[in-house]
Amino acid sequence: MSRGGAPAKIGGVRRLLLATNNPGKVREFRRLLAGLPFTVVTPAGLGIALDVVEDGASYAENAAKKARAFAAAGGCLALADDSGIEVDALGGGPGMYSARYGGPGLDDAGRLDLLLRELADVPDGERTARYRAVVAVAHPDGRVHLAEATFEGCIGREKRGERGFGYDPAFVVEGGRTAAELSDDEKDAVSHRGKAVRAAAEYLRGLPG
Ligand code: IMP
Repeated sequence: MSRGGAPAKIGGVRRLLLATNNPGKVREFRRLLAGLPFTVVTPAGLGIALDVVEDGASYAENAAKKARAFAAAGGCLALADDSGIEVDALGGGPGMYSARYGGPGLDDAGRLDLLLRELADVPDGERTARYRAVVAVAHPDGRVHLAEATFEGCIGREKRGERGFGYDPAFVVEGGRTAAELSDDEKDAVSHRGKAVRAAAEYLRGLPG
């Protein structure tokens, strides 16, 4: 039995605990990790309630901190990401603070409306932005493997599309569609999280059983 009281393997298959309950991220992680020889579980699924303070100085520090905390709590491998949107006209902001942009009173739609208002006077050629993700895989003993990737685009002037989450309805990618207008497969193929999780999946695949 692991330190978390639950087995680190289910039916001989190792568990991989996602260090998030964010439904948008859980959906993306599950898709991206399908096919790996791991049973993917969520904190809610294991009854783990952990609130990890994201006070690191970088995406990597925050991702590693979250992954280590959940790996220790679950007694199994844990995968965390820290991500954000970097808008060049805002000096790279909100970046690591993307989930808290505008303060605690706002939801995803409110944060995106605020971003669109902030950029109202920024000309089309200067609305470049990128998503960045760092994915950390932690072992229960504290070892961590990191993978980082970006997804380039620009901030449009209105919201389009029903898919994705967060800033996706205004994140315009090559070809002119927003990330919220891409199919799951299309987003996974080019997104920051898709690329970083695929690198992390390679690491997981190479681990001794
Ligand atoms: P955190 O990684 O939990 O700190 O949250 C990162 C925040 O960045 C999310 O809450 C979103 O606001 C934003 N973000 C990161 N990746 C994406 C994405 O793929 N689509 C839309 N928003 C994203």
